[in-house]
Amino acid sequence: MKEVEVDADDQHWPQKCCRCGGKAFSIREYMEKVVIWSTGAVTKYDLVLLHIPVCGTCASVHKIWLGAAAALGAIGFIANNAGKSIGFVLFWLVSAIVLALVGVNKKPIKVLRFDKTRNRLRIRIYHDAVAAELIRMNGGGGDKRR
Ligand SMILES: [Zn+2]
Repeated sequence: MKEVEVDADDQHWPQKCCRCGGKAFSIREYMEKVVIWSTGAVTKYDLVLLHIPVCGTCASVHKIWLGAAAALGAIGFIANNAGKSIGFVLFWLVSAIVLALVGVNKKPIKVLRFDKTRNRLRIRIYHDAVAAELIRMNGGGGDKRR
C-alpha cells in the first residue's frame, strides 16, 4: 500500500488494474467524496471524478461487501421491530458495521487529499507495483524511497 501524488486532471495510469495489477481491465469512472473540512455536524466535500484502469472484480467487490452490510443491517432492523432481544439486534447491527468498514477498504483506490491550489491529488494505491509505476509515469511526488 502506497500513497501517490498525481495531477488532478491529467494522470498517466499503467496498463493494468490499479487494485490487483491484473491485465484484464477497462477504464472506469471512479467518484469519491473527499472531505475538505468537518465540524462534526457539518462536513464539506469535494467530489473527485477520475477515470482509472480497474478490472471487473476489483471495481465491484466493495459493492458486494456494502450490499451484504445493508442486508445484515436490515435483519437487525427487522429483529428490532419483531421485539427480539437487544443482544440479538446488536449482533446483526455490529456485523453490518464491520462489513461496511471492510467494504470501504475494498474500493480500488482511495483519494486522500485534493490540493486545489496546486491541483494535485494524493491517492492511496493498494498494489505496490502499480504504485511504483504510477509514481514513475507521473514524475515522482510519491514515496521517495523508490
Ligand atoms: Zn483488479
